[in-house]
Amino acid sequence: MARRKIVAGNWKMNKTPSEAVALVEELKPLVASEDVDVVFCVPAIDIIPVVEACKGTNIQVGAENMYFEESGAYTGEISPAMLTDAGIKYVVLGHSERREYFAETNETVNKKMLKAFEHGITPIMCCGETLEQREQGVTMDFIRQQVKVGFMGVTADQAKASVIAYEPIWAIGTGKTATTEQAEEVCAGIRACIAEIYDEATAEAIRIQYGGSVNAGNAAELFAQADIDGGLVGGASLKADFGKIVNYK
Ligand code: PEP
Repeated sequence: MARRKIVAGNWKMNKTPSEAVALVEELKPLVASEDVDVVFCVPAIDIIPVVEACKGTNIQVGAENMYFEESGAYTGEISPAMLTDAGIKYVVLGHSERREYFAETNETVNKKMLKAFEHGITPIMCCGETLEQREQGVTMDFIRQQVKVGFMGVTADQAKASVIAYEPIWAIGTGKTATTEQAEEVCAGIRACIAEIYDEATAEAIRIQYGGSVNAGNAAELFAQADIDGGLVGGASLKADFGKIVNYK
């Protein structure tokens, strides 16, 4: 069975609550699609107004991060129950910016993955190499480690329902997109890694996105690849262009 494409916007630290609602109103008609899952991953403070603004549309709302404990003395963190109560369906975990600036590791990402599943939230787990790693020829070794540790203790059924975003760090926010061949090669490698951990059926079911300077001009070619099931989109998700990415065909 063909995998359904999923196009998710990562708004990062952009848009106040009132700006967020205005952006949803602008994008709503542009991202209407029956063929693709559309997700807006928004800053924590925007979640409640964005969920409200997306009611009755095809848009699902995701968080950009989540803590792995249920509740308690973790000042500044957001719990999974807070997210589900607010209407969140997806959560981005292990984005390279969180790994780089907020000391997230494969192990903390794994704890968050397990907690997300416990609460019925679909993780979009990010992985990706630096330019240096690519040049050293260790891209796949590095990513396999991220995937293997990230999915420790995750059941095959949970893995089937998850999303992995392959995001080469050198392509994020730089305007430098991986070539279609580079993106497909790594996404296929990630699928093979999932097949090794679980089985072919799980590898066939899991959705793998490409992320890194996806725009209205390159989405169609990237998403047409056999192992690329959509995109995680940063900069272009804040513009009308996002509608063109969702309706890439
Ligand atoms: C991202 O934030 O995950 C991302 C891929 O950003 P951009 O599309 O701006 O490169």
